[in-house]
Amino acid sequence: MAENTVEKTSNLELNWARIEKKWRKKWTENRIFESDIEPHKKKYFLTVAYPYPNSPQHVGHGRTYTLADVHARYKRMQNYNVLFPMGFHYTGTPIVSMSQRIKSNDIELIETFQQIYKIPSKIISSFKEPKKIARFFHEEIKQGMNEMGYSIDWRREFTTIDKGYSKFISWQFRNLRMKGLIVQGSHPVGWCPRDQNPVSQHDTIGDIEPELIEYVLVKFKFEEQYIIPTATLRPETIFGVTNLWINPDIKYVIALVNNEKWITTRDAAKKLEFLNFSVSIISEINGSELIGKSVLDQFRKESVPIFPASFVDPNNGTGIVMSVPAHSPYDYQALDDLSKNPDTLRKYDLMVDIVPKKIIHTDLFPSNDTSPAESIVTRYSIRDQNDPKLEEATNKLYSEEFHNGVLLPDIDLVGNQSVLKARETIRDKIIKQEIGTTMYELKNAVKCRCGASCVVKLLTNQWFINYGDENWKKLAYELIDNMEILPEEIRQEFTNVIDWLKERACARKIGLGTKLPWDNEWIIESLADSVIYMAYYPLSKYINNNIDPQKSENKILADDLNDSFFDYVLLGKNDAEAVAKDSKISLRLLEKIRNEFLYFYPVDSRHSGRDLVPNHLAFFIFNHAAIFGKDKWPKQIVVNGSVLTQGKKMSKSLGNIIPLRRAIGEYGADSIRLAMLASAEILQDSDFSFDQVKAIRSKLFEIYRTISSHKNIFTTIQNSLDHNELEDAWISSRIQRLILETTTAIEKFRIREALHSILYLMDNDLQWYQKRKLAKNKPVHNNSLKDFFEVRIKLLSPFAPFFCEEIWGIMGNHSFISLSQWPEVNNSKISLKSEDNERLIQDTILDIQKITKVTKIIPKKIMIYTASEVKSKLYKKLLDKIHIQSVTNFGVIMKEFVNDNDVKDLVKRNPDLVKKMIDDILSESLEVRERRMNIDSFNELIPLQDSISLLISETGNDQLKVGIYSEDNNDKYDPKQKSEFARPYKPAIYIE
Ligand SMILES: [Zn+2]
Repeated sequence: MAENTVEKTSNLELNWARIEKKWRKKWTENRIFESDIEPHKKKYFLTVAYPYPNSPQHVGHGRTYTLADVHARYKRMQNYNVLFPMGFHYTGTPIVSMSQRIKSNDIELIETFQQIYKIPSKIISSFKEPKKIARFFHEEIKQGMNEMGYSIDWRREFTTIDKGYSKFISWQFRNLRMKGLIVQGSHPVGWCPRDQNPVSQHDTIGDIEPELIEYVLVKFKFEEQYIIPTATLRPETIFGVTNLWINPDIKYVIALVNNEKWITTRDAAKKLEFLNFSVSIISEINGSELIGKSVLDQFRKESVPIFPASFVDPNNGTGIVMSVPAHSPYDYQALDDLSKNPDTLRKYDLMVDIVPKKIIHTDLFPSNDTSPAESIVTRYSIRDQNDPKLEEATNKLYSEEFHNGVLLPDIDLVGNQSVLKARETIRDKIIKQEIGTTMYELKNAVKCRCGASCVVKLLTNQWFINYGDENWKKLAYELIDNMEILPEEIRQEFTNVIDWLKERACARKIGLGTKLPWDNEWIIESLADSVIYMAYYPLSKYINNNIDPQKSENKILADDLNDSFFDYVLLGKNDAEAVAKDSKISLRLLEKIRNEFLYFYPVDSRHSGRDLVPNHLAFFIFNHAAIFGKDKWPKQIVVNGSVLTQGKKMSKSLGNIIPLRRAIGEYGADSIRLAMLASAEILQDSDFSFDQVKAIRSKLFEIYRTISSHKNIFTTIQNSLDHNELEDAWISSRIQRLILETTTAIEKFRIREALHSILYLMDNDLQWYQKRKLAKNKPVHNNSLKDFFEVRIKLLSPFAPFFCEEIWGIMGNHSFISLSQWPEVNNSKISLKSEDNERLIQDTILDIQKITKVTKIIPKKIMIYTASEVKSKLYKKLLDKIHIQSVTNFGVIMKEFVNDNDVKDLVKRNPDLVKKMIDDILSESLEVRERRMNIDSFNELIPLQDSISLLISETGNDQLKVGIYSEDNNDKYDPKQKSEFARPYKPAIYIE
C-alpha cells in the first residue's frame, strides 16, 4: 500500500496525485469557490451537515459530502452563484468521551489511531485534552475535504465553540424561549446511568437514537395485599383478558413501590426507580410459585388465573403480561400449547378451559365463532409459541385492528368506538381510578458511548424544547409541504417524525458547547445547537474577520455581538443605527452583513445522511419554522444512504475501516468520488470496493487516452463536409439526448443513472459512431466528435473535477471547467428519424448475426426486404390505437380494421400479421412508441442502403453482395419469397 502504487499499476501513465495537487493549487490561488454577493446573478446556497471532529474521516463519511459537492459544482456550471461552506461541530459529548477513553488508556481506540490512521503516539497522548482532539481531527478532516476536491468557501469556516457562534446560539435559545417553545418540566428521556446525562443519537454506540415506548401498567390485585402490574400497549383489550402469563423459570421480586407491594422482575423495579417511583425491594419470589393462583382484575372486578408461558420476556415491561387470546396470536397459541401439555398441567395442577373472548371487530376477521387470533394462527399454520411466524401474524393482526378495528357494541363504555378512541378512553380511566399507571421503556437496546446500558429516566426540572406544541407542528408541516424532498419516497418518514416528536431534552450537564443563557449550569446539547447554523455562514465571513481586517470599518468583535445584532441581521428587527452602535460596528458593515444574509438565505438545499431524518433534519425543519419568516424557510432536503464495504458498515470491530485520505493517496480522489456515487441510487446503501475504484480508474484512463489521441481536433478547424452523413446527425441527436437525460437524472439525484450514461452509455454511442465511419472509410476526426468529447467531459466534471480540469486543458482551454457552462440541450439537433435510422441498422445487423450463427452459413449474398407501403400504413394506425387510444385487444382492433378501406385487404388476408405487429409495438418502450408516433414518414431503405459498407465489414467478406429492396419492388431478387414476412422496423432477411 505504498504511496506510489499509482505508477506501478498496469496501464496507468496518469500521475493522479500530481494532477490533483496542481488543480487544488490553481483553484485556491484563483479563489474560484469563494462566493460573495453578485447582485445580478442567481444564488444557490447549499449546505451539508458539518462533521464532528472526534475521529478521522473514513470512506464511509465521504458520500454525503461528495454528493453535496457534486451538487454545488453542477449548480455552479448552471451559472448560479453557489455558496458551499463548512463548519465543525465540537458540541456535546462525542469529543469529551473520546478524550476520556484516551485518558483511561483504551487500548482498542489507541491502536485504531496508531495502526489504521497512523497517528503518532505523541499526538495521541495530547488527546487527553478534548480540544486537542477536536483541533487535530478538524484539520485532518479539512485536509481530506480539500483532497477530495470539495468546492468549499473556507473563509466562512467556524467551530461551534467559537465565541461568535455561542452568541448566535444564545440568541436562538432566547428566541425559542420567548416564543414559549422551551419548557422546564418532567419528561422521560433516554439516559446514561453512569454519566447521569440524557443521551441522544450522538451519544450512543453505533449512533442509535433511543426510542421510547409508553406502556400502560394495569394493576391486578393478588391476595389482598399485593399488586401484580402488567405492561400493555393495548389497554382497551382489558375486556378480553382471560388470564395472566408468568415465566416459571425466572425470579421475581416483591418490592414496595409507592407504598404498594408489587411483584415484578428485578429489572422492572430498577426501571421504575429511574421513572421516579419510590422503590425498595423486600424479597424474592419464584415465578413458579405464582402459577395456578388467581388475581383480581380491578377494572372489571373479575378473577383470572395465572398460567406459565416461556414466551414471557423478563426484559420487557414487568415480566408479567395479561393474556388476550382472542386478539393476541401469542396468547392464543400459548393457551393451546398449554392445554396439550399434560406434564405442565399436572405439575401445577391446572385446568385450562378458557374460551377466548372476542371484543374487536374488523372486516378482515368477521367471524363470530372463531376469534381473530385463532383465524390468523390457522392462516399462518403456526406450530407452537416458538414459531417465528408468530411475530409476523401478530404484527399483521395488531396493525389491522389498530387501523380498522371497532369495539363490539356490547362492550361497556367503549362499545362501537374505534380501537384508537377506545384505547385512549380506557387508558385515562385506568389511570384516573388508580388501578394502573404508565411506564416508559426503551424500544431498542442502546448503549452509551461510555459503555453503560441506557435506560429511560423521568427528568424533573430539565429544559426541553417542546416539539409537541401543536401550533409549532402545524408550521413544521407547512414548511415540509412546501419543500422538495429528494428522493420523494422518504417524505413519509419526515411526516411521521413530525407527528411523533414530543418534548426533547435540550441541555446537558457535561460536554462542550454554549451555556443555556438563563441557567448557566446547563450546556445546550449538540442536536439543539446545530439546527439553524446555516444562517451563520453568511455572517461568519465577517465575524472571522476574513474580509480586509486592515480596514477599520470592517472590524467586528464577537464579544460585542448581542441579540439586537442577530435580531437585525437575521430577522430585520430594530433600528440599524442603534444596533450598529450597540455592537460597536460601522453602520456600513452592519448593512453589508444584513445584505449578505438576505442575498444567500434561505438554504436552497440541505444534504444529509438518512440516519439524521428522525433528529437533526426534523429539528432543522422545526426550528426554521419557529424562528424565520416563510420566505427564509429552506427549500430542499437531499437524503442519502450510507456506505458499506462488502455489505457491512465500516467499524473497528470488523476491521474494515478505510481511511479516506489513504484511499485518496492510493487511488486518486476522482476514482474514489465516482465509486462512492456510482454503485447505488441515493437512498440505498452503497457498497464500496477497491475493485470498483480500480475499474473506474481504468475507465477514466481510457477516456483520457481516447481524447488525447484526438487532441488536435480541438485546435484545428474541421471540414464540415466530413460530417453530414446519417451517423453524424445521429451522434448529434444522441449528444442532446444524453445532456437531457443526465441533467434530468442529476436534478432528481438519480446519480447512479447519470454516471451510467456518462461513463458507459456514451461509450456505446462513440463505438457505434466510429464503426460506421470506419466502414465508410471516412474520418472520425471531426466536429461531431469534438462536440461529443466536450459534452462528455462537462457532464463528468462535477463528479470527477480534477480529471476533467486536466482534460479540459488538453482540449486547449485556458479556463476552469469548474466555471464553464453546463451543456444545454439544442432541440433543433434532436432528430427522431436519426435515432430510428441507427436503431434499424443495429437491429438488422443483429438479426443477420443470429441467422448466420444458427445456420452456420458464411454469407455470400444478403437480401434485406423492407415492409410494403400498406404495412407501414397499418403500423401507423396500430401505433395510434395502442399508444394514443390504449386499445391493445386483437379482436377489437380487427373488428375496426376489417372495415378500414386503407388496410382491410391486408388485414383480412393476413390476421396473423396484425397480431405480430401488435406484439412488435407492445415490446417497444413508451419512448420509442412516442418517437415513432412523431415521425411522419420513415423510409427504411435509406438507412439500410447507408449501412451496406458496415454490413460488408461486419461479415468480413469483401465480396459480399447486398441487396436492399422494398417488398413492393417488382424487380427484387427474392427466390424464397421472404419479402412477405417483412414488417415495419423488422425487415425480412434472406441469406445465401
Ligand atoms: Zn455514559
